[in-house]
Amino acid sequence: MKEAEIREEIVRYGQKTLEEGLTSGTGGNISYSPPGEDFLYISPSGIPYHEIDPEEIPRVDYDGKPLDPDKPKPSSEAPLHSMVQSSVDRVNAIVHTHSPYASVIATLGKEIPPIYYLIANIGDKVPIAEYATYGTPEFGQAALDVLGDRNGALLEKHGALAVGSDVNGAYEAAGLIENLAKIYYRTLSTGVEVEPLDDEEIERLSEKFQNYGPETG
Ligand SMILES: [Zn+2]
Repeated sequence: MKEAEIREEIVRYGQKTLEEGLTSGTGGNISYSPPGEDFLYISPSGIPYHEIDPEEIPRVDYDGKPLDPDKPKPSSEAPLHSMVQSSVDRVNAIVHTHSPYASVIATLGKEIPPIYYLIANIGDKVPIAEYATYGTPEFGQAALDVLGDRNGALLEKHGALAVGSDVNGAYEAAGLIENLAKIYYRTLSTGVEVEPLDDEEIERLSEKFQNYGPETG
């Protein structure tokens, strides 16, 4: 993918997170690290997505340090993005959101258990990373500690992290985590206890999704 396309994609998906209610204001951020490179493109800090010129998308290295002094400041969550992207080979894109239901479950300090079949697109559950101050290496490490081979995690008292091999994949995971959080929240509020799917079934679903794509009908 050409550099200009990467920049445009980050802006376009940033606008989508706002339009589709996955984040609000200037919250939430997106990054992409081209395969084989040791830097990432990341949304800038504090500029609404509708006002960002793709040319203004800054880059940070794998230590989260800005590489483009002439461009706007990178997102304050650069350490989270650079730590996860540099530590997990399969991850080339990250979408971090403060989507409402995921934030509620994260604030309750709960992980999302496998009570609904689509969770197998994320993993055996959506784990929750222990609370740490945003923008710090501890925040990135807490996420890494629980991510494993899953496509996302909740961040305690903060929001959600979604990962993928490209921006579209990470964005889809972010939307799905919000949907799973909504289902879990509403299920909890009925007071009825729900039996989770067992490991074997999660594995079966995960294989089906990998072979045929998510079944959404
Ligand atoms: Zn955040």
